[in-house]
Amino acid sequence: MKFALIGFNCRFTHSCLSLFYLRQELLKNIDDVDININQFTINDPYYPTLMQISRLKADAFFFSVYIWNADIIKRIINDLVKIQPFSNFILGGPQAIALRADDLPANSTVVSGEIEGIDTSFYADLKCGSLRTSYQGARSKKFDSPFTANDFSDQLANRHIYYESSRGCPYSCSYCISSLEPGIRYKDTQKVRDELREILAHKPQGLRFVDRTFNASDKRALEIWQFLRDESEGTTFHFEISPDLFSEEMFLFLQAIQPQLFQFEIGIQSTHEKTLSAINRKSSINTSLDNIKRLVQMNTVHLHVDLILGLPYETFASFGKSFNDIFSVGPHYIQMGLLKVLPQTPLSRQLAEFSIQHCNYPPYEVLATRWLTHDELAELFWFGECVEAFYNNRYFRAFFRFLQRNGWDGFQFFLDLLELCRKQSFFNRAKTQLLMSEILSDFIRNDPKSELLKELLIYDWLRSGHRFLPDHLGPHVLKKVKTQLWRELPQEFLPFYNNVSRSNFFKHSLFVRFSGETLQELGLTDGEEGVLCFLNEKEGAILELNKVALLCRCSASDCQA
Ligand code: SF4
Repeated sequence: MKFALIGFNCRFTHSCLSLFYLRQELLKNIDDVDININQFTINDPYYPTLMQISRLKADAFFFSVYIWNADIIKRIINDLVKIQPFSNFILGGPQAIALRADDLPANSTVVSGEIEGIDTSFYADLKCGSLRTSYQGARSKKFDSPFTANDFSDQLANRHIYYESSRGCPYSCSYCISSLEPGIRYKDTQKVRDELREILAHKPQGLRFVDRTFNASDKRALEIWQFLRDESEGTTFHFEISPDLFSEEMFLFLQAIQPQLFQFEIGIQSTHEKTLSAINRKSSINTSLDNIKRLVQMNTVHLHVDLILGLPYETFASFGKSFNDIFSVGPHYIQMGLLKVLPQTPLSRQLAEFSIQHCNYPPYEVLATRWLTHDELAELFWFGECVEAFYNNRYFRAFFRFLQRNGWDGFQFFLDLLELCRKQSFFNRAKTQLLMSEILSDFIRNDPKSELLKELLIYDWLRSGHRFLPDHLGPHVLKKVKTQLWRELPQEFLPFYNNVSRSNFFKHSLFVRFSGETLQELGLTDGEEGVLCFLNEKEGAILELNKVALLCRCSASDCQA
């Protein structure tokens, strides 16, 4: 028999873990099968994709259905059935059950639950071509890593690898599909180590743990982290973690790791107590914020924090407070996702109670709630787009750190910036670093701290690796300082250069004089002005900014350097 396993990922670099599990189960349960895995992206052109799939001429096509690909899969199946009417179409994955029977051809089968826990009658029916319209897989104790050595050079080459060391979640958030089956199942840690060792032998660039709350058991999480630190070479590991479940041992460990080793995704969703209680989210917000702040200060882990827009009891003002609570602790990335009302979740049964309006089709984004009119929600959506463009990158780190350290109202800042962005048609233009730097420069023009803020924009621009300054940042400052330093600095000035490397140092470095206030803000002097030297090499830190050093503390007038 010939089976084609089809996945539609969001991006080329993603991979579809469930297809690999499915392949292993099919091989275990059916003899003499020819199975091929095929991964596309949801942005691939439709007709050529359909042609590639129809060319597979399989007896059965298996699709892995998620919220982001349900529409394209529905479309593909309904066209494929015209070309291959005698094949079976089998759909699994969290969104398969949401597809209605009248969306699908008659020879379709929906498998819900876990493929490892499905009854053997499924395979018997598959072999004789008499599948029922639905099957239910039970929760399975075993979920061994499904990869083979060939996968790493074939289907997984240049893609993220996904791995689960546990299944299920200890929490039951009412909007989440994981809440339907509460409880967590752990894989034996020795087994985890053995499987990871096999994966790491292929030196993947990135490995993402799909465990819903990786640190639900702090001892176990630490044990796996220690193993990854000791055994990996150049791989970055991504974890979804709960920030209120950190032990002191974990902080001690994280403080000492290499900066590119770990990335954390932290779901806070809201800091509004009434909202958290309405969605059944039990976490201590104060502990979470304190712990995120500690992690930010350590500066060894990339931190991505999620907020959800449109949750029950979240008003325009309370969302602003949630945003400010997160902004003030300074994570690297703040994501504001819209609430999605997923079929079958507890929240989907509370629509009338919360007056939630949402889109009819996947991914079912919220349109309005009892606490947010559609206009308010739309304003917050564009606010989120503004944060995404300006904050969620490495371009303006010192600029935003200044706002965070000095207690600025981040919510109001981005609302005002949004207004300027609209005037300048920002959302219809290419969102380049240059354009954003110009807009910020314009935005701060009348601020009492405008000189300091402009210097921080210059600092950020050069730290991002540029070897020039654009017109709005005053390109002349570079040449003026360099000429003066070349003339006045001694032939040997350690640790920067000796008399052999002097020319090279001047050729490859950029020099800018900064005010005492700016250098104090950057933690480089106690308020004396001076010259910073931007080197043409990256520092080995999370954001890989260019190296910078204080060359001398002196004012322009008495520079003896
Ligand atoms: S949102 Fe996260 S923490 Fe809450 S139930 Fe889902 S997976 Fe668990």
